[in-house]
Amino acid sequence: MADRASKETTRRGSPPKWARQLERRMDSGLVSLDPAELGLYDRDAAPLPASAKWAFNPRPDAVVRPRTADQVRKVVRFAVKAGVPIVPRGAATWGFGGAVPVNGGIVFDLQGLSGIQVDRDTMTVTAGAGAIWRDVADLAHRRGFMLPAYPTSAPGSTVGGWINTGGMGVGAFKYGGIDKQVRSMRVVLPNGELVRLGFDRVIPNSSGYDLKSLVIGSEGTLGVVTEATLELVPAPESTRPLAAGFPSGKELGDFVQLLARSRVLPFHVSFYDPAHLSNLERLGEVVPYGGGLVSMMFEGYSSVVDWEWEAAAELVKKAGGEVATEEYAMTSWDDHLFDLRVARNGPTLLMNEVFVPLSRTTEVMAGMTRIIEAHGVPGGIVGTAASRSTASLMPYALVDERKWSTFFAYGLVDEFAQLSLDMGGRPAGVGLWMAYQMPDLHSGALDAMRAVKQALDPKNIMNPGKLVHAVSKFDLAIPAGVMSMGTKTISMVHALLADERKVKRSTPTSTATKTSNDEAEMVEEERAEDLEDAPDPGAVNKVEKEG
Ligand SMILES: Cc1cc2nc3c(=O)[nH]c(=O)nc-3n(C[C@H](O)[C@H](O)[C@H](O)COP(=O)(O)OP(=O)(O)OC[C@H]3O[C@@H](n4cnc5c(N)ncnc54)[C@H](O)[C@@H]3O)c2cc1C
Repeated sequence: MADRASKETTRRGSPPKWARQLERRMDSGLVSLDPAELGLYDRDAAPLPASAKWAFNPRPDAVVRPRTADQVRKVVRFAVKAGVPIVPRGAATWGFGGAVPVNGGIVFDLQGLSGIQVDRDTMTVTAGAGAIWRDVADLAHRRGFMLPAYPTSAPGSTVGGWINTGGMGVGAFKYGGIDKQVRSMRVVLPNGELVRLGFDRVIPNSSGYDLKSLVIGSEGTLGVVTEATLELVPAPESTRPLAAGFPSGKELGDFVQLLARSRVLPFHVSFYDPAHLSNLERLGEVVPYGGGLVSMMFEGYSSVVDWEWEAAAELVKKAGGEVATEEYAMTSWDDHLFDLRVARNGPTLLMNEVFVPLSRTTEVMAGMTRIIEAHGVPGGIVGTAASRSTASLMPYALVDERKWSTFFAYGLVDEFAQLSLDMGGRPAGVGLWMAYQMPDLHSGALDAMRAVKQALDPKNIMNPGKLVHAVSKFDLAIPAGVMSMGTKTISMVHALLADERKVKRSTPTSTATKTSNDEAEMVEEERAEDLEDAPDPGAVNKVEKEG
């Protein structure tokens, strides 16, 4: 098994023998065994509850930061021989635990593979797996092109990460998700071979198994993507945002449906429920429409953009909404890469992302609101129209991970996923947290997926314990029934504790809660500073704004 060697690890003592060997074999500075650094790699965007560590050992034994595909190849070959698990990692902005080890091993921090090159002849951009989306969009813009789609985490997330999560994002309504953009990829397979999947200079459809598509959305379980060539579109002549306010979720849902059934084709459509808008108000922002907000962007030839804008504005009125000023529409669009800035109200944001039939948007959002209210924590919903048939919803709860009771709030994440399944949808990702749901999601096809995994990765070294196999650090499969019962129980306990929280909130502040509030304020300040230091999203916006 993959973790045979990693079992030699002395958690608090010296690194395992294989890790020292790896360090000696690789160029200096590529491998880190420093315990302080390793500790930084035991989580992704969603914090792992301390209590989950009885089941998982998320701290790697070694972190490797390759700068070339050949270095990736060498490390994979070493890992196969030593039987050590490998966990590919981009910027760890995903919240499903995909980049977090189940039981130590090697984490590949791929951010050093960050070269970007635009090819005008083929209208493509070739980017290293660790290139940041904002930088890719920025370069494409400078060369007269535009990325058809990118994640709203573009200021920080990587090309390899979005490919491996099979992402949908900004631009998906018009151009589709990452699966429609990738022309070719360089991938180090679990046998240590570096291969090209797809074709660099022409569209990739062909006879032969579509291995490129197999890797897209494989969550790092089939190989390490080192580079990708992506299709570009010519930069637009004109761009124009449209924002609209609605009295409630009902009218908002009606509008999204009307839009999807019309021939109007916005670049992007996002929407926000009343609870999210009031969380923005808590940040001190001016929110003119408390009942629900839709924000859209149109791009292309000026005449077409204006026609589409007018047609969409008509649909807003038909659904009972109000078209906002163009100034507000621009402000709202400017924020589209920072929807989750509400985390500053947390300090911890627990979220899920699900895809549901667009026709059931209102119904699902109402169900999510009921779940959040039953738990008595602040929360909200950020949504996008991912296509004419599918809405992507990101429900979240604002909690404080330093409190013991927050462990029970993790059940919320599962409740959101369950609701989406009941409504004919699915969770957006699987990773560590949703792997136990794979039998429900794919039934018989899961066996075929496991057979593919076994064929390509017979030693199960590539991101074990994720996607197709939910296992704990003890190498034991996590039974779906047990996991589901566990999450339901913790969710129930958290909902029961909701009343206690409400009572506490209405009592005068004790010294103990004051200390905790002070700490929370400090964390909020730190997060605010982080946000200020974060890369300017202007580069991505520029693509749409300047045309
Ligand atoms: C504020 C915010 C907004 C977001 N918006 C969107 C959005 O609009 N659309 C969307 O789809 N997602 C979104 N996400 C989720 C996440 O940001 C994206 O999925 C992102 O693309 C992940 O990239 P990453 O570099 O952070 O990947 P990571 O989190 O590091 O990794 C994600 C998965 O990919 C694997 N992986 C990473 N790199 C490689 C590689 N080179 N080879 C093989 N496997 C690899 C990892 O093992 C892991 O399983 C958002 C998240 C946040 C916090």
